[in-house]
Amino acid sequence: MAKHHFMGLNLRRKIALKQARFILIIALLLGVFSTGLQIYLDLQQVRKNTTEDIERIISLYRDTATQAVYNLNAFQANEVTSSLISYPTIYHAQLIDDFSETLAEHRRDQTLSSSFLSLPAQQLFDLNRYIEMELDLASVNSGNERARLIVELDTIHVANSFSQRAINSLFLGLMHSVALAAIILLLIYRYLSRPIVQTAKWVNELRSEGKSSVLPYTAEDELGDLVRSFSGLWKDREAVTDKLTKMVAELSESEHFSRSIMDNAGDAMFLCELDSTIFRVNNQGASTLGLSKQQLRNTKLADYSKNYSFDEYLQLCEGISDTQVTTFEDLQINANGKVFPVEARAIKLSLQSHEYLLIVARDISVRKQAEKQIHELAFYDTLTGLPNRRLYLDRLTASLELHQANHSFGAVLFLDLDRFKTINDSLGHGVGDELLNNIAQRLTHVLPIESTCARFGGDEFVILLPETGSSSDVCADVSAHVAQEVLKVMSEPFSIEGHTLYCTASLGIAVFPASDASAQDIIRQADTALYRVKAMGRNGFQFYDPEMQSTAQERLEVEKGLHQALKSNQFVLWFQPQICKDGQIIGAEALIRWQHPEKGLIFPGGFIQVAEESGQIVEIGNWVLREGLKHLAKWRAEGLPESFQRLAINISPMQFMQVDFVDQVISLMDEFDLPGDAVELEITENMLLNNFEVASHKMKLLKGKGVSFAIDDFGTGYSSLKYLRNLPLDILKIDRSFVTGLRSKSEEAAIVEVILATADRLGLLVIAEGVETLEEKETLVELGCDCFQGYLLSKPLPADKFIEFSSANSSAEID
Ligand code: C2E
Ligand code: CA
Ligand code: CA
Repeated sequence: MAKHHFMGLNLRRKIALKQARFILIIALLLGVFSTGLQIYLDLQQVRKNTTEDIERIISLYRDTATQAVYNLNAFQANEVTSSLISYPTIYHAQLIDDFSETLAEHRRDQTLSSSFLSLPAQQLFDLNRYIEMELDLASVNSGNERARLIVELDTIHVANSFSQRAINSLFLGLMHSVALAAIILLLIYRYLSRPIVQTAKWVNELRSEGKSSVLPYTAEDELGDLVRSFSGLWKDREAVTDKLTKMVAELSESEHFSRSIMDNAGDAMFLCELDSTIFRVNNQGASTLGLSKQQLRNTKLADYSKNYSFDEYLQLCEGISDTQVTTFEDLQINANGKVFPVEARAIKLSLQSHEYLLIVARDISVRKQAEKQIHELAFYDTLTGLPNRRLYLDRLTASLELHQANHSFGAVLFLDLDRFKTINDSLGHGVGDELLNNIAQRLTHVLPIESTCARFGGDEFVILLPETGSSSDVCADVSAHVAQEVLKVMSEPFSIEGHTLYCTASLGIAVFPASDASAQDIIRQADTALYRVKAMGRNGFQFYDPEMQSTAQERLEVEKGLHQALKSNQFVLWFQPQICKDGQIIGAEALIRWQHPEKGLIFPGGFIQVAEESGQIVEIGNWVLREGLKHLAKWRAEGLPESFQRLAINISPMQFMQVDFVDQVISLMDEFDLPGDAVELEITENMLLNNFEVASHKMKLLKGKGVSFAIDDFGTGYSSLKYLRNLPLDILKIDRSFVTGLRSKSEEAAIVEVILATADRLGLLVIAEGVETLEEKETLVELGCDCFQGYLLSKPLPADKFIEFSSANSSAEID
């Protein structure tokens, strides 16, 4: 501002001074020149006038002087000369007669040079100072000489008066010039300089103070136009500037506002590129992630997410819109490895025509904790920490739907303590609570991991066993097992506050889904079953479905019995011969029997399925394998018919799938010194279906040792040519269902024919199972089947009977 002011002053000084100096000099020069010219002209005039005057004066006195000389009139002569010197320009006059005698003479003192200009002026006059005029005395011709009038001029006087005038006119001229210059200056100043200076000052004021005062010049002329158009421009500019200033102010205010909001916000704020690259982060954001703002810049927010993979996070970012806030929950991990839940709100926004994501994340650890607590209060039993009725119902409802959809079964076990009320009343609630806690612990410990054990209040515990089997029978079986386990752990005494307490339990079981029963219905069913247990004397379990009760119970008994059977060697092997159409015995199938100490001989139908479901089949199968091969070795040593080729042993899928199965077979063959080609293993199609690669590999290994493979119950499973072609098979056993009642030209006959044709093409031997009648056998022969197994030929026989049969067979053949 000071500078502008200074510039204004300078400008003013410059213009005014320059103008004044210039005009003054010009005026003076002009004045001097014109005055000089005037003086010069005056000089000429004065010279001419003076000469003329002198000549006129002299001529005026000529006659008188002539007369005076002629008459020698001294008086007259004196008069002439004294008259002559009365003229200021003449200071000496002398009249000389024709005898050269001075007739009269007058002299005045010459004017002294009083002015400094006199001398130069005197020089300038080239006047004849000495004038001598001859007087003509024609009429009086007397002497030889001529009479003369001599006049001497006072040139100093002339110069003096001239110079006086010159000085005057010079002074006047200069005065005049200065006055003119002053007037012009004044006019110029008034009409040009001042307005310009004022305008300049006004402009400077505008510039420095920024406000527009009154127009400095309003006249309707060029300057006025200039001022007005400048003022217009300025106003326009001011309007724009005002707008800009306002905008800038608003912007900086809002920028400051948002910056301070961002920095002081309690939530973590991240301004990110669209690929989650952090562009700006606030204090909270930096502190939650445990890094400085500098360190965070240009890292990707996706890297701090635990919930989402990197790509998932980017996908999430892509989905963020610019119109609606996207909310998501995430787990963030900070630099110290701490993981915490956040709730994030994100929106896309455009800043300086660049798109960003603003992600505001809030640490919700506390909320989550509270939610968890609320959840626990709402869904968990405060005493035992087990799920409560509500959560249980939720889970049961969900699994009910799931089971309905995938056709599997689950069970609800309602447990009630048998003597809890007595304990609670006699020893107090403290002990009662402690007991309930202990029971809860034991239950959680013994129950399968996928089950839910809830406390419904008091001494009621309800267990949910999901996905327990593909049939209600299997489910019942598993549930019965679990119930038994529970009863077992409950039978152990509890030690609480120095008391040794016995507290048995009763369990009611309901299997679901059953008809249209809801979750509540199922619980009620289990409860009903529970009352039956109570009525029957407690410490046990009952199924809601009585049929299930008996099968489950039977199965449990069988399972328990099988355990015992293995231990006390109650199994025996029977053998069923396999006969060819020419009556020769070509082999036998080993079939297991259970010699039950009380129930007598039990056939496989009564226990194999239970053994398979309980897994005991592996141990039983191993026993059969060893026992079968042992018998075979013995028979071979004692002598078998020559036609006898192989002993067939049934292998159940679970047994076959044991990792060491192949080794086991080979080592048993080694142990009994049996060649592989004396052994045949019967497997089922369904086993191949599930584990084709593994099964095929195992088969090939054993095949390498000469072992034969037969497909049991052929035609009942998912017969696929693929299996048949790609597996090292030797024998097909046509299932009994095709053989029973077989007559030529029947539908069964057609099936058997196809089976035979397939086997023929693959080079497999076919044995028909369950041949009971001669007609069946003849039809089979007719169709091209040459080998049979069935009651018609022989029922399965105990070992000694079998040996008898086979030797009879061979001797019969000899006959
Ligand atoms: P399977 O392998 O199909 O055995 C043939 C079954 O048919 C035997 O019943 C046999 O006694 C019976 N049978 C033979 N000829 C006739 C006939 O003409 N008419 C009728 N109605 N039945 C006949 P079994 O011994 O009760 O065995 C039943 C099933 O038990 C067997 O069927 C087999 O799947 C399984 N099994 C038997 N022993 C074993 C074993 O040691 N291990 C394994 N894993 N399963 C075995
Ligand atoms: Ca079999
Ligand atoms: Ca069979």
